[in-house]
Amino acid sequence: MSKLLVQVVVLVTSLILTFILFYAVFERSTRNKTEREILEIYEAQLESILFSINQYNQDIVESWVNQINQIILSGNLENEDALLFLSDHPSVDLIFISDNQYKIIATTNSNSQSNDNIEDLLKSNLDAIKPLPGYLEADYQKLLPLLGRSNNFYIVFALKEDPPGRLAGLMVNPTTFISEVLSPRLQEVARDEMILSAFNGSDSTVYSTNSESVMDEEVIRLPDGRLLFFPSYYLGISFRGETLNDLIDERTRNDVLFIMMISIVLIVGIAFIFAGIQKELRLSKMKSDFVSNVSHEIRTPLALISMFAETLEMDRVKDEKERNKFYHIINSETRRLSGLVNRILNFSKMEAGKRSYEMATLNLNDVVGEVMLSHDYHLKNLGFTVDFDRGENVLLEGDRDSIYEAVVNLLDNAMKYSADSKNILIKTVANVDSAIFSITDFGMGIPKSEQKKIFNKFYRAEDSLVHNTKGSGLGLNIVYEIMKAHNGNITMDSKPGKGSTFELHFQIKSTG
Ligand code: ADP
Repeated sequence: MSKLLVQVVVLVTSLILTFILFYAVFERSTRNKTEREILEIYEAQLESILFSINQYNQDIVESWVNQINQIILSGNLENEDALLFLSDHPSVDLIFISDNQYKIIATTNSNSQSNDNIEDLLKSNLDAIKPLPGYLEADYQKLLPLLGRSNNFYIVFALKEDPPGRLAGLMVNPTTFISEVLSPRLQEVARDEMILSAFNGSDSTVYSTNSESVMDEEVIRLPDGRLLFFPSYYLGISFRGETLNDLIDERTRNDVLFIMMISIVLIVGIAFIFAGIQKELRLSKMKSDFVSNVSHEIRTPLALISMFAETLEMDRVKDEKERNKFYHIINSETRRLSGLVNRILNFSKMEAGKRSYEMATLNLNDVVGEVMLSHDYHLKNLGFTVDFDRGENVLLEGDRDSIYEAVVNLLDNAMKYSADSKNILIKTVANVDSAIFSITDFGMGIPKSEQKKIFNKFYRAEDSLVHNTKGSGLGLNIVYEIMKAHNGNITMDSKPGKGSTFELHFQIKSTG
């Protein structure tokens, strides 16, 4: 990864992390508000549940009062029906009747002590009790709950029959009432979605729709959510499995996770786009370098050709030998030009996948010999000595023109990058299953960091020495592609300052 790419990724990552940090702080600060909003929703739900439970409660107690009215009509509690009623309703402990002076005149309980307690209770609640017969006359049967000493509730009401002003009442055990009478209704409302619990005046749970105990802080209560007839008892709501805080925590966790995932996708995306852009930039720089290199390579031979042709045209050179030399220079510069043009044409054919290879059996020594012959003058002129170590019978299946071109490219490079050393070794080897062409120079060599890249198209080493020599950056890429088309390969061994060896390996089919 390039340094710039790392910088961009670090910048984007820190921006995203800062954003997440801000989000977390923001989330914390809005948490109380969210909590309050959710609480309000739960409270509204609880309120409607309480309303329906109290409605049910009212219906039950009213039906009991009707039954008791009937029982009293048919014999003032002294019949079997009263006892039957008590045994049918375990939460009702006793039934009583008082005269209009609040004296107990009949009760299902034989214990006169508890009768005294009821009289005391009635007398100490005179203000509430007195209007009861009046309400009844106005056709409203008011049921008045009074809290007794034993934590039981007395539900008191006026009796319809003569003599007027008589009262009756039933003593109800709230805990039994809730767990026996209200519980089916509570279960039905709660279902699997929530837990409804009933609490007494000292905040301990008397009943819960869930058998497991409910943590106190998880229960939501209504400030005035009292149970009808049992005003010191109230309902609470809590949620299965998850508490309110769990819900909020989970939401925050999910949000942060989501942001992190988006961020990762973003970072990876940016890294990809950036790497793509960098690749494009590198390629376009290489192309523009290529254009300037090629123009440079064309300009020099063109200048030489025009200069020598002009001199000859003016007939200024009288010496035959000198004239021949000029002709030769024009010829060799033209060859160099056409070589360059051919190289570019072949390269573009190869790029388009249109280069065709005509395979035939050929002797590698012949091809190399031809290249050496055509380069003979040039080599001698520049002071090169070339040792050619010919292997015996180096036959292979290949396309003559392209192998010729590959050898030319390698020889050209050996000459270009030899610097002051003017010696080149060429060798051909015939193995059982391969034929090898090898060329060694003792020139500038190639640094390790560049060795993999030199086969890429348009690539030229960064070295300033390289940039002083003419080149297009295509030669080795063409050799590489030619060897690929021959199912062969090119290898290289090079030490900076010591020189380089390039080898072409051709596979040959074993005839055995
Ligand atoms: P060019 O036209 O630049 O020679 P090539 O594709 O033939 O293009 O070579 C690519 C690069 O490989 C050259 O620019 C040079 O840096 C390096 N190179 C190739 N051959 C040699 C060699 N014999 N010695 C040193 N460097 C070489």
